[in-house]
Amino acid sequence: MAVTVKVISKTERTLSEQAYIPEAMKGMKLSMSRFFKNTFAAPEKKEIATVRYPEEKRVYPERFRGIHRLTQRADGSPRCVACLCCSTACPAQCIYIEPEEYAEGDARHGYERFPVVFVIDELRCIFCGYCVEACPCDAIRMDTGIHMPPSTERSHFIYDKETLLSIPGADGTYECENPRHEPGDASHPGVDRLKGH
Ligand code: SF4
Ligand code: SF4
Repeated sequence: MAVTVKVISKTERTLSEQAYIPEAMKGMKLSMSRFFKNTFAAPEKKEIATVRYPEEKRVYPERFRGIHRLTQRADGSPRCVACLCCSTACPAQCIYIEPEEYAEGDARHGYERFPVVFVIDELRCIFCGYCVEACPCDAIRMDTGIHMPPSTERSHFIYDKETLLSIPGADGTYECENPRHEPGDASHPGVDRLKGH
């Protein structure tokens, strides 16, 4: 089989290019023009791709996965029912939960549990969002719109239950739109553990 060879001619360099000095001067001219423009020109005329963080912050897209928060019920308690779905789904194994039963007399006793300990190691987290997808209660979200604040202290990246509950969503709210059917409410389906559910 005949092979077709495409010959590409090499561009010859001009005398000016071979001398290097004119080309170096062109580069210097471009660098200096950008330096003076970005140092002294009016802000709207500057050509700077970077921002002066933290005074300036970029606007993140709506679906940006920020640091986690635990959503609250109307009474301020966590929506989380300590089912462990999120910690099971987490590929980085950075969620630790200790479940607890609600006290005798609480309408939720026997129906739901709550997390007495809920910790996320945000330094191990890979921000995949699987925990949010796995949660059946819309109890954990990554809609805070903020990334992890920098720190040199490792403990600052370990977020406990109280911290996670104290972070609002990007809309400033601590709850979520999905309705909850609390045990004892008329809208609750009425499953009863004593009757075998
Ligand atoms: S975002 Fe991913 S890695 Fe981070 S806690 Fe959730 S499941 Fe784990
Ligand atoms: S945050 Fe959601 S998935 Fe995780 S334990 Fe609580 S209810 Fe279950």
